[in-house]
Amino acid sequence: MTIKHHLSDELLMAYAAADLPEAFNLVIAAHLSLCDECRARSMAFDALGGAVIEDSTCEMDEGSLAACLARIDGLTQMTAPLRPRTDRVLPAPVLDYVGGGLEAVKWRALGMGVRQAILPTGDKGASARLLYIPAGAAMPDHGHRGVELTLVLQGAFRDEADRFGRGDIEIADASVEHTPVAEAGADCICLAATQGALKFNALLPRLAQPFFRI
Ligand code: ZN
Ligand code: ZN
Repeated sequence: MTIKHHLSDELLMAYAAADLPEAFNLVIAAHLSLCDECRARSMAFDALGGAVIEDSTCEMDEGSLAACLARIDGLTQMTAPLRPRTDRVLPAPVLDYVGGGLEAVKWRALGMGVRQAILPTGDKGASARLLYIPAGAAMPDHGHRGVELTLVLQGAFRDEADRFGRGDIEIADASVEHTPVAEAGADCICLAATQGALKFNALLPRLAQPFFRI
């Protein structure tokens, strides 16, 4: 797998600073689980953030630090998952939100073969969803009120800008209106986080098409 489209420094910094809605954290964590390059950059930002925190607030003596680390170790062992944390399509961070692998996803039809499943992130003003686009089919033409992150998990899509395959992430904002089309050959599954509602431009004209024959 060769990943061509990566996370921006701005997003990785905001992620390290825990400054993003949960929906965006989820998409970023899912990309990091697939991408060595961004994981290395993310660890550098984490170290940077950690150093700043250590400088300003931490005056822990060695004894309590050791006790604290031992406690964290214990917690990690206690919460170690029992079921296997792998799925052919869904990265580990997504499994908890779905409550299982790909077969556990509760899809809802959006029309024209496109399906989606909203993931329970508890955000206000942001949402995370899995999208299923049949091979060769298009998502409705839409613009965005805010930032949209789309991570490809299966198949590939193209839009006006480029081609996106498994592991690739597309960053779109309010200036982008695009029509992602799934490539022929494999159905496309994506994980997307959106800030604000999507503006579907072509949905109404398309629904009206059979009546007006345009
Ligand atoms: Zn990357
Ligand atoms: Zn979009």
